[in-house]
Amino acid sequence: MNIQLPVVDRGSHSPAVSSGCRRGEGRDDGLSGGRPRRLPGWLRRDLPRGNFNHFTAGLLEELRLETVCDNAKCPNRMECYSQKTATFMILGNVCTRPCGFCAVSRGRPDALEADEPERVAEAAARLGLRHVVITSVTRDDLPDGGGEHFYQTVVAVRKRTGASVEVLTPDFVLHPAGLDRVIDAAPEVFNHNMETVPRLYRRVRGPRSKYGWTLELLAHVKRRNPAIRTKSGLMLGLGETRDELLACLADLRRVDCEFLTLGQYLQPGPKYLPVQRYVPPEEFDELGALARSMGFTKVASGPFVRSSYHARDMAES
Ligand code: SF4
Repeated sequence: MNIQLPVVDRGSHSPAVSSGCRRGEGRDDGLSGGRPRRLPGWLRRDLPRGNFNHFTAGLLEELRLETVCDNAKCPNRMECYSQKTATFMILGNVCTRPCGFCAVSRGRPDALEADEPERVAEAAARLGLRHVVITSVTRDDLPDGGGEHFYQTVVAVRKRTGASVEVLTPDFVLHPAGLDRVIDAAPEVFNHNMETVPRLYRRVRGPRSKYGWTLELLAHVKRRNPAIRTKSGLMLGLGETRDELLACLADLRRVDCEFLTLGQYLQPGPKYLPVQRYVPPEEFDELGALARSMGFTKVASGPFVRSSYHARDMAES
């Protein structure tokens, strides 16, 4: 998953961002030499309008559901909740991988909850979602990596709502049969994030993750079910070079990845990987145009873009 939240003056994530906080105002040093210390102006936003934030949060609490929006401290949470959207996070809220960018808790996960697929379906129905995004923590501890639970959740959501479904999955590197089970659910969109360029892979995603496997996973989805649209995303600002990024995008196109998201990495807290650079909006625009010229059919590129940000627009347009 590529969800992270910003730190201001090194630190926190971003109630500062999503609430329009003005700390750091007057200094756009995101592109200066060395490690950026303050949020540039383009990462400050006003509070979203609308009163569905509490409705969405209350519903999720009532149904005892996790979202990556909360667990990963996504800077778009208030905006998305206000629009009655969220990305459901299944298989618990504890991850078995030590990714250096992600705020989701890590450690020994709890047992699976057999009724979780139905509860996700219930929430999707009551939110009126027409496109449902389902992600999960990585569950290396399960015999199938959680593939069957993913399958059951996709099926339950589709049966209850008739909505299109997008999965954003872990890599299933230890459990390829679990990956096949997710593909067998035939989600409309299958997203697996590249996250970063090969040189930074182990540092960002941990020792078990492999760049080549990520490409192979996306290729495998297409081979097994060509009707599924594949999607991937990268966080920018982790120290990647432009040439490295473009080579990575070319690799994604070689495996026929169709949808792409590019967003700014924001450090969730002091113990996570530091931001190396804040990429200005104009550069995101330029990279987005470049990606489209490389053959990606849908591209979302901007400082606040996350894997699931406005996912329905990308899936439907
Ligand atoms: S961008 Fe995705 S993860 Fe972030 S709040 Fe919106 S739906 Fe949740």
